[in-house]
Amino acid sequence: MAKKDKGRLFIVPTPIGNLEDITLRALRILKEVDLIAAEDTRVTYKLLQKYEIKTPMISYHKFNERERTARILDLIASGGDVAIVSDAGTPGISDPAYIIIREAITQGYHVCALPGPTALIAAMVISGFNPDSFYFVGFIPEKESLIRKLFDQLRTVRVPLIFYEAPHRLLDFLTLLRSNWGNREIAIAREISKIHESVYRGTLDELIAYPDRLNLKGEFVIVVAGYIPHEISENEILEKITFYLDQGCTLKETVKKISESCQVGKNRIYRLGLKIKKTNC
Ligand code: SAM
Repeated sequence: MAKKDKGRLFIVPTPIGNLEDITLRALRILKEVDLIAAEDTRVTYKLLQKYEIKTPMISYHKFNERERTARILDLIASGGDVAIVSDAGTPGISDPAYIIIREAITQGYHVCALPGPTALIAAMVISGFNPDSFYFVGFIPEKESLIRKLFDQLRTVRVPLIFYEAPHRLLDFLTLLRSNWGNREIAIAREISKIHESVYRGTLDELIAYPDRLNLKGEFVIVVAGYIPHEISENEILEKITFYLDQGCTLKETVKKISESCQVGKNRIYRLGLKIKKTNC
């Protein structure tokens, strides 16, 4: 590439399975840049070998991100072009790259994102849910208390939600989701673009009840149907109020809990709560 005063940072998506899923532009950029910063140089080497690309590489992963960011930006400052790639898909999407992208923008360098593969988009469109709008969650935290907190926050999102999850945690994930959100429709996209690509569709109950039907090997994206609000009846609210009051909650706490979980106005619950209290006196 012709030398300029300052170089550029290219964010280059790579295949998520099938090595043919790479754009002509991505291949050209990988050939032309001065350096490729790769999450795992051994993984990227296979891709470079297939396309006879001989550009030098350095590793750039979550354990050396900060130190490497400074080194890469020095190269860009002196006119070099750098491409950043991850093991699969789009760098920055549940993969390292955010720190260098942020820093390059802050320091005023030209950052260029190439469109290309990412597992979440393939899974969203193949799920069969309406893709007009969706919510990408990515990986959930390790700790169960944090997972529950996250599920609480996302319970009433009304568009499909997309999760990344490791195969050994998939069943636990589905079970936890079921206990927090109830029985919802889901789609699990497995091994997208690879030989054993498959999609499991059904309700959480169906998929949890027959885990043998799920092949739990490989990589998965889980798409979960969004929350569908239903008009809650007066009787249902009365039952919930009685339940919380019996548990020893104050009326104020009861109103707060029900309005948050059922999306009902606080005044309506409060009035019904007072009715119950009067009848119990
Ligand atoms: N940067 C990647 C992207 O753009 O999709 C995501 C990397 S993240 C470390 C890896 C996760 O992506 C996997 O655990 C899985 O949830 C999902 N994933 C990646 N490749 C996949 C594939 N071929 N089929 C299904 N899921 C995949």
